Amino acid sequence: MQAFSYERATDVASAVRAGQQAGARYIGGGTNLLDLMKSGVEHPVALVDITQLPMAAVDETADGGVVIGSLVRNSDLADHPIIRTRYPLLSEALVAGASGQLRNMATVGGNLLQRTRCYYFVDPAFTMCNKRVPGSGCGALEGHNRIHAIYGASDACIATNPSDMNVALAALDATVRVTGPRGERRIAFADFHRLPGSVPERDTTLEAGELITAVELPPSRLAARSTYLKVRDRASYAFALVSVAAALDLDNGTVTDARVALGGVAHKPWRAREVEAALVGKPFSADHVAAASASLARDARPYRDNRFKVALAERAVIRALTTVGTRA
Ligand code: SF4
Repeated sequence: MQAFSYERATDVASAVRAGQQAGARYIGGGTNLLDLMKSGVEHPVALVDITQLPMAAVDETADGGVVIGSLVRNSDLADHPIIRTRYPLLSEALVAGASGQLRNMATVGGNLLQRTRCYYFVDPAFTMCNKRVPGSGCGALEGHNRIHAIYGASDACIATNPSDMNVALAALDATVRVTGPRGERRIAFADFHRLPGSVPERDTTLEAGELITAVELPPSRLAARSTYLKVRDRASYAFALVSVAAALDLDNGTVTDARVALGGVAHKPWRAREVEAALVGKPFSADHVAAASASLARDARPYRDNRFKVALAERAVIRALTTVGTRA
């Protein structure tokens, strides 16, 4: 492992000052970053420890929303009464995301920044990976690509975002609060993660030195009728092949609002907006859900080993919507 300096920040301003130096990285739980440092994928020259900053609270807002500090541990958030009752899809996604030990360490901010588990990215023995070594090529494009994207990929990178939490936050229209060298700003969740395009080494739209301070959840009627479905090779300790965060608002059996986001299928959480639009305004039924979900297969662009994801994604969406739509 490359040598690095270590500094424990005592307030947000000093953290951001330290985070501006080239090659610096913030560290909270460290559950992803330390693994990648040990395997030689990440080489920070400085670690800025942010664990002492006052960003570990979950606060209700006056309008019925919630502000979640970026240092809230995944296990604490999953178990929080407001999250469990008003945003159950988020609680379910967090529990599905990792073992208890990892959830006890991992933070909300770190979960937002989880890096892909593409085989070619996490193992430096592979020489071709544009995300790890820009310009080196994409080993997965013509290689093993069973776990890779079916939406929004490019010839430069076909990796997927591994986070379950991110899928739930996409469905909830969350907002990410950051503080950086140029002050504070708020980033709509849909704009926080990037598609790979020709710059796959950038996972997010964060600017250099910006520190995630909180995630805002708006008040949501439909979030109470929601679920998170994760399909994976094993029942635990596995990333999603496909996952779905789904929420519905029904009025006398008619769908008045819908949210559908998928994980394991793209470089960012993938909102199925065409499915959502097709669901709204019609009575909820099995036929209606199946018809509304048909666009998923039409829009998919699979690779050699992941064609199974096309049908899997459509069926997972139908199952998740059926679960929430038929709930008493
Ligand atoms: Fe690297 Fe992306 Fe290709 Fe995987 S899919 S090898 S992360 S460039």
